[in-house]
Amino acid sequence: MQKGTIGVTTENIFPVIKKFLYSDHEIFLRELVSNAVDATQKLRTLASFGEFKGELGALDVRVDIDAAAGTLTVRDRGVGMTADDIDRYINQIAFSGAEEFLAKYKDSANAIIGHFGLGFYSAFMVAKKVEIHSLSYKEGAEAVRWTCDGSPEYTMEKGDRTERGTDIILYIDDESKEFLEQVRIDTLLKKYCRFLPVPVISGKEQEWKDGKMTDTDRDLVINATEPQWMKKPADLKDEDYLNFYRELYPGQDDPLFWIHLNVDYPFTLTGILYFPKIKNNFDINKNRIQLYCNQVFVTDSVEGVVPEFMMLLQGVIDSPDIPLNVSRSYLQSDSAVKKISGYITKKVSGRLEELFKADRAEFEKKWDDIRLFIVYGMLTDEKFCDAALKFMLLRDTENRYFTAEEYKKLVEAEQTDADGNIIYLYTTDPVAQYSYIKAANDKGYNVLLLDGQLDNHFVGLLEQKFEKTRLVRVDSGVIDQLIRKADRKEADLTPLQRNILTGIFSSQLPTVEKTNFLVSFEAMAPGDAPIVITQEEFMRRMKEMAAMNPGMNFYGELPDSYNLVVNTEHPLIVALRDKAGKELDSEVNPLADSIDSDNAAISEIRKAAGDKAPDAEGEQKIKELEKAVGETRERQNKIVADYAAGQPVVKQLIDLALLGNGLLRGEALNEFIKRSVSLLA
Ligand code: ADP
Ligand code: MG
Repeated sequence: MQKGTIGVTTENIFPVIKKFLYSDHEIFLRELVSNAVDATQKLRTLASFGEFKGELGALDVRVDIDAAAGTLTVRDRGVGMTADDIDRYINQIAFSGAEEFLAKYKDSANAIIGHFGLGFYSAFMVAKKVEIHSLSYKEGAEAVRWTCDGSPEYTMEKGDRTERGTDIILYIDDESKEFLEQVRIDTLLKKYCRFLPVPVISGKEQEWKDGKMTDTDRDLVINATEPQWMKKPADLKDEDYLNFYRELYPGQDDPLFWIHLNVDYPFTLTGILYFPKIKNNFDINKNRIQLYCNQVFVTDSVEGVVPEFMMLLQGVIDSPDIPLNVSRSYLQSDSAVKKISGYITKKVSGRLEELFKADRAEFEKKWDDIRLFIVYGMLTDEKFCDAALKFMLLRDTENRYFTAEEYKKLVEAEQTDADGNIIYLYTTDPVAQYSYIKAANDKGYNVLLLDGQLDNHFVGLLEQKFEKTRLVRVDSGVIDQLIRKADRKEADLTPLQRNILTGIFSSQLPTVEKTNFLVSFEAMAPGDAPIVITQEEFMRRMKEMAAMNPGMNFYGELPDSYNLVVNTEHPLIVALRDKAGKELDSEVNPLADSIDSDNAAISEIRKAAGDKAPDAEGEQKIKELEKAVGETRERQNKIVADYAAGQPVVKQLIDLALLGNGLLRGEALNEFIKRSVSLLA
């Protein structure tokens, strides 16, 4: 009998294993079963090269529970191990790098948890004692029995095994009794071993008998040994892909389409990615992409391996080239992983372009379902964005779809402004912004629908990507302001008229909480609305972003600010202007003159002082004059406000405009209704 110390210099590695892998004990089963599968595959390979000439026999891997004995056994009929092999692969090698590894990562348990690298020794996470019974395939090999009770000492002696292969027997420790339950083991095998290339058997098939589920005498094979992604795309029909999807994610709507990944240079990668129907839910935690390594399930957190936006996809990626025993941050900087991620991105955009070209009508039908994914991708991945510009669709308010190029052609002629910018008009809510859309359409302009949840960011991106193009929401100005033409008519008002009209309207505005209004004038067509309320594009975008992004609180805190644009050509406004002029001019004119002359006197004093500040006497005089101007202005405002209060048409016009924007609420709305009724009387 050989006794020895396992080749580790650390005092005792096992407590470390237990501690580090605490949350992920279950992976021991994945490790042991994949070792068994590896051993089986090795034997097959040897046989195919003629180096093993014996009988292969059944090559299943079995996972057996003996609850009475408290053991779990993983057995295979693979290559087996001689005492020499065990010495080399278990006693020495397995941990040669472990000390260094643990020292390096001792502060980040995540770097170790859940990844390959501990292999065989992960058995000690759940077992107080482990035995290996093995007989090598080599001619004349002797059976060997190895035992270790969780201290670094092991014993190795001649064994009594007569059949080729290996049994790993785990004496499950008291805290891990769950692994002696068939149901628990089945669940784990389904999770990790579902697609292993060698049949894995655990327990028996069950059937309904005498009113309950009962074991039959047929072995239960856990896995599909030839999963769809390992097959050639040419050998698969649509139905096969759909069935595989249904198997992976039971109870979900069928996917929209899929991509079969298949590369072997410069890295090996296979897999199938599905485009699920995603609408407005961002639930990427459920039903995620599964990452496999040679058909062994590794994880379904693929952050770092695929670009962030791809997390909205589903399916399987299988690659032996993704380093699994390292931390996530390392993954992101690994060049092989970068290449893989880049490859997947290219494949996905390539496939989308292909679908777009092959059947435009079908692509349009699916567009609304994949739009969120594509927009997300364009916003977060430069390369994908550039590729997507070829097949990305813009949808207008009449539900027509255009590529970027087509849309430009459509609107270029009409919607280019005096500065040569093409203005794309868009709406985020066709119902609420109806009157603005109508006004734009009446001018012969097109309006895009951008009502997705990422669209306020997307608008900025499109402006970056499209040359000399600006996107403005259709209610961010009156239409002639949005697309300013060279022949635009200016509002034709004298300074006094402007002053009086501004006073008339601003004095009658209701107070709306956290909202500012600014009165301005625009010469629209006489048939256009008398008053239009608009919200400036830049400020609105900033506030929307602030709502999604706590770092931009500054904008979030600002009040909403609207423009109350008065149409100086509208007959009602013209009449109001003239009537106010007639009734107010005699009173307001002298006040305006007095303001003008006081202001002129202030300028005089400043001018006389030249480059220097005025002397004390001058300063005093300026103060007095400024005070007088303030007082006169107040008087003037009061006269105008009193006058406006007696003109129900003013309040009525304002309220109608507010109503059109959903800004008339509460008491103001109630007053409006009362006033409207009394006007009918
Ligand atoms: P890895 O599988 O990454 O090499 P492990 O710790 O899981 O690391 O296994 C160490 C080695 O022990 C394997 O490479 C293999 O040579 C040997 N081994 C483990 N289990 C078996 C088995 N069931 N049959 C034959 N050899 C095995
Ligand atoms: Mg292994």
